[in-house]
Amino acid sequence: MKPNGHFGPYGGQYVAETLMGPLAELAKAYDEAKQDPEFQREFQAILKEYVGRESPITVCRRLSEKLGGATIVLKREDLNHTGAHKVNNTIGQALLAKRMGKKRLIAETGAGMHGVATATVAALLGMPCDVYMGAIDVKRQAPNVQRMQMLGARVVAVEEGSATLKDAMNEALRDWVTNCDDTFYVIGTVAGPYPYPDMVRDFQRVIGDEARRQCLEKFGRLPDQAIACVGGGSNAMGLFAGFLDDKDVKLVGVEAGGKGIASGEHAASINGGRLGVLHGSKTMLLQTDVGNIIDTYSVSAGLDYPGVGPEHCWLHDTGRAEYSVICDDEAIAAFDDLCRYEGIIPALESSHALAEAIKRAPTLPKETILLVNLSGRGDKDMENIMAYKKAHAGV
Ligand SMILES: *Cc1c(COP(=O)(O)O)cnc(C)c1O
Repeated sequence: MKPNGHFGPYGGQYVAETLMGPLAELAKAYDEAKQDPEFQREFQAILKEYVGRESPITVCRRLSEKLGGATIVLKREDLNHTGAHKVNNTIGQALLAKRMGKKRLIAETGAGMHGVATATVAALLGMPCDVYMGAIDVKRQAPNVQRMQMLGARVVAVEEGSATLKDAMNEALRDWVTNCDDTFYVIGTVAGPYPYPDMVRDFQRVIGDEARRQCLEKFGRLPDQAIACVGGGSNAMGLFAGFLDDKDVKLVGVEAGGKGIASGEHAASINGGRLGVLHGSKTMLLQTDVGNIIDTYSVSAGLDYPGVGPEHCWLHDTGRAEYSVICDDEAIAAFDDLCRYEGIIPALESSHALAEAIKRAPTLPKETILLVNLSGRGDKDMENIMAYKKAHAGV
């Protein structure tokens, strides 16, 4: 990372002049908090006593045997309170908000999972919380809207533009410009302007740090590959951060291929996007020839982010990580496999990472360890999966 949060040509702070001050204040506060043992102690205590960390690693014995190759090992973020990795980050940011004397949290959400994770910590710390959500997403994601409301958050339906995630992002930024004195903007992935990509990675690196230690304890060595799905890229960056300096550990990010890159209906920003500016950051994103953001598509709503964290673009360019694509049908097949062979119902997002491991395993020896980040549990996806299966029955 270079000053001002650049990863090679990516990242930076592409925001209205009025936000440069608040971003500088945030960067300074985060820098101090990061080095303050008291802040770190409080963060770790909540992760342990509220989230239930550490999350275990689980060897997939039956699935690996069936595939007849490498051994697949899961990092179990699905076992966290709220059922996914997102809460690691919202706890970190909410604690920072409190430390900065901010009184109110805001967030934007697409599928609603980050909204729920933010509403959760707002309740935990006793802060009011407004969550911006595209009006179309409010309809599509009714159960998560109800969860947020149950937790005491206000959900603001955004009618502007295409009434989806990118419009909600714009509204959240607008709110922050107006209210930055008392309001903290909680971003849900390793995207956005500096210092967010760094901050979110640091809060999520507990995933990689734990998994590294757990692999050493259990196998006496590091995994050969660390595989994670990439929406905005926070669970992947959290996993990768633990292994970045271990050059022999292959890092693999998996993007949502939807109906295939050629179809244009996907959410693969690195594999199918172009350089642009989104959400205050220079990054690879899905856009039209004249630079309008394209609405993404994936069977898994949580991977539907039109951009990707800038650090991933840099890891891709430098060759430290590789980024593959898994389509809807492959993710659904992997979902079924994990349910039937291991008794674990994974999130559809995580099923993309698992599908990549399932593809690779048969070509590799049994001694090879493929560590897959199981970013969340699949209870939220039941309706979606049933609808997909019904639509594709007999195909
Ligand atoms: C939101 C979400 C993702 C995608 O977000 P990243 O920032 O790419 O991690 C992945 N898995 C689950 C379970 C999610 O809820």
